[in-house]
Amino acid sequence: MTYGRGTFKGIEFGLYGYEDIDSEETMDNIKREFEDQYLKQIKTNLKKVGIKFISLKWFSPREYNFANDNLDLTIRIVDKKKIKTAILKHKTEIDKRLSENKSYSGYTSLTIYSVESELELLDKPNYEIDLIVLSEILNIDFTDFDINEHLITLPDCEECNEYFDQEDLKEFEGEWLCEDCLKKAKEFEK
Ligand SMILES: [Zn+2]
Repeated sequence: MTYGRGTFKGIEFGLYGYEDIDSEETMDNIKREFEDQYLKQIKTNLKKVGIKFISLKWFSPREYNFANDNLDLTIRIVDKKKIKTAILKHKTEIDKRLSENKSYSGYTSLTIYSVESELELLDKPNYEIDLIVLSEILNIDFTDFDINEHLITLPDCEECNEYFDQEDLKEFEGEWLCEDCLKKAKEFEK
């Protein structure tokens, strides 16, 4: 089972709207930093509640109209008894968040309605843990992690200050210039 946005309570990984960043490098960097800080704890905490960690993968939408970037978590249910214990331990927070998240006009909630209904589902053979339930029993505070601290900015042309990929800048008399500025600089030289 793979879980997207909202799995890690308190973090948004979305890069939509960020300008002047090297997207590829930034995605790699955020993933690396996040793993450095939390991966060990995530694996341990999941194991404690009967869930096996499978993978973390960066997800990037082809278009930003409907989705944003995310770090997706894939897991496997191992021990339902331990999950049940963990759910009951966090019952109050889970129920509180679920009631805040109920469907309203124009919005269909994708999560279940209560801890009780989650526990009923838990007995079924194809049980998939609810996203909110998972994020609560994971029980890690991620609020220290700010993606803004891990952005990799693109280099800029030293003449016009526009942002370019490094490979689109050429060095000319000690300055890194874009194609247009390079042309102008060369013409000026003549
Ligand atoms: Zn330029």
